[in-house]
Amino acid sequence: MATVEKGTISVQTENIFPIIKKFLYSDHEIFLRELVSNAVDATQKLRKLAAIGEVKGEIGDTTIVVRLDQDARTLTISDKGIGMSADEVKRYINQVAFSSATEFLDKFKGQDPAAIIGHFGLGFYSSFMVASQVEIRTRSYQGTPAVRWTCDGSPDFTLEETDREERGTDIILHITDEENKEFLEEQRIRALLNKYAKFMPVSIQFGTRTEKTGEGDDAVETEVPDLINNTAPAWTKAPADLTDEDYQSFYRELYPFAEPPLFWIHLNVDYPFNLTGILYFPRIKKGLEVQKNKIQLYSNQVFVTDEVGDIVPEWLTLLHGVIDSPDIPLNVSRSYLQSDGNVKKIAGYITRKVADRLDDLFRKDRADFEAKWENFSVIVKYGMLTDEKFEERARKFCLLKSMDGSYATLEAYKDKIAPEQTDKNSKVVALYANDRELQDPYIKAAQRKGYDVLEVDNVIDNHFLSFAESKVENISFVRVDADTADKLIDKDEAFESVLDEKDQDKVREVFTEVIADGKVFVQLQPMGPEDGAVTIIKPEMMRRMRDMAAFNGMSFLAEQPEHYNVVVNTNHPVTAKLLRVRGENRTRMARQLYDLALLAQGMLKGSRLTDFVDRSVELMAPKAESAEKAESAEAGTNS
Ligand code: ADP
Repeated sequence: MATVEKGTISVQTENIFPIIKKFLYSDHEIFLRELVSNAVDATQKLRKLAAIGEVKGEIGDTTIVVRLDQDARTLTISDKGIGMSADEVKRYINQVAFSSATEFLDKFKGQDPAAIIGHFGLGFYSSFMVASQVEIRTRSYQGTPAVRWTCDGSPDFTLEETDREERGTDIILHITDEENKEFLEEQRIRALLNKYAKFMPVSIQFGTRTEKTGEGDDAVETEVPDLINNTAPAWTKAPADLTDEDYQSFYRELYPFAEPPLFWIHLNVDYPFNLTGILYFPRIKKGLEVQKNKIQLYSNQVFVTDEVGDIVPEWLTLLHGVIDSPDIPLNVSRSYLQSDGNVKKIAGYITRKVADRLDDLFRKDRADFEAKWENFSVIVKYGMLTDEKFEERARKFCLLKSMDGSYATLEAYKDKIAPEQTDKNSKVVALYANDRELQDPYIKAAQRKGYDVLEVDNVIDNHFLSFAESKVENISFVRVDADTADKLIDKDEAFESVLDEKDQDKVREVFTEVIADGKVFVQLQPMGPEDGAVTIIKPEMMRRMRDMAAFNGMSFLAEQPEHYNVVVNTNHPVTAKLLRVRGENRTRMARQLYDLALLAQGMLKGSRLTDFVDRSVELMAPKAESAEKAESAEAGTNS
């Protein structure tokens, strides 16, 4: 083939170049992944051939080099792989590559490209998304003459012999369109290589970096090739060959700014599907937004996506780490993916592995498990709420935490509190608080009764406790401020009221006047004299409905004022005293008692708070009295 050969790439239906150019507008960047992974493939093929003696002599350095030339407006990907002969270019580039690209586009015509996972399948031809002309210079390891192929994005190509001594392939993209000039920027290309090629199995060089050696006056700076990838990431190794520090340092490589993980799971299966990976349990801080989409999906060390929601169950997306599986179909749409048998099996496998690991930790080192529990409990609870299989397993290690710092599984906890906390209907009532500081008066009141109080703290607990009620027989959860300590667990041990009905009416009347809110209900309740005088309660069911509404974004319900009742202890000495004072003084005293109750719930705010503070000070030193004192003091100095 001494002369230039011109031809037309066989196109069955229509010119697909315009379609390729428009395809996945937002995802043009994947061209780089496709080209670099072709270079990796060609290099690995060469290594395999060398291993079986098919390649003569040393194969030498096989680093892939990515190079930018801003003046020439080119981006070049060079490999020292198997290369191609003229025939192979015709066969693999003109025919195979093109037909697979056509097939791909046909399959997804009319579909939302963003819904196609990984956007795999366009291969070599994806380079036309960004280049106005693509040039291949290649020489096969078999020593056939080197060839140069060019194509400018029309179905016409040229193919000619060229002078090239070294084995391998250069793919040269001529990027002339203004709209694609971002791909001539060094920062952009470096970021893309970091994203897609960070763990590819063949060394990739992009530019150089300065390396310092020696100290002080002896310091020498040298330019060395900047290698952007780790060719043997931890997940590709055998667990037996890895130390804890290896896992930790791989985590840092993935998430340089994250806190160290709690523990990890090394995945490794080859039947009935192939999958490797490492999943990490991150430290989830109280009240912090949970970071999703941290798991990265790879296919043979080529980055595909960090949106794995279609492959692993939603709750597992709270984990961090890497999954690598060539068996996850990548050039398919999301909806197809979810119905794929392998993908379902993969989800099941990962769930099982996570349950195994947690179960193991729980049984082997309960103390350590408990110490870490609060940092990952949200993942376990989320899993239990949404995944029945996992729920069955997790029930054995899912913990409840009491205010005193002790932990127990659901069943064990129920047994523990049953003697003290069974109500008159034989139901076990578990008490909880979600704000230790704010609910302190209620917690203390319940503890004085000899009750245990659970500490719950995240959004998911609202759901989780209702869920636990449905899963564990004969238990209900009640927040400590849902009733007076006396009535939280209804035991049918009512006190007699020391007040007659007339006096009760007087008490109700003065509080109704002071509260001045038609929706707040005054409840008179005879309790022990040592129980609270006036208490704000938020009935459990009403409060839960409101919490759920807020969670589900039903703002109408959530924005309604919080529902609460005011309970007055008719047997408290202060209530007797209230009846002894009259007129304005009684009103003032009732107001003070009501404000104290609001204060105990953290509900005393604004001008009501200011009034309360002023009134309290005045109670200690009434104005009339202090005026008198001042007068007499003055009189004293005069005498
Ligand atoms: P795929 O990689 O999925 O097979 P491509 O369109 O990316 O599809 O490439 C088509 C074919 O062209 C490859 O299978 C390979 O035979 C050949 N090819 C592409 N790039 C190179 C390269 N850098 N070195 C050697 N052969 C290559």
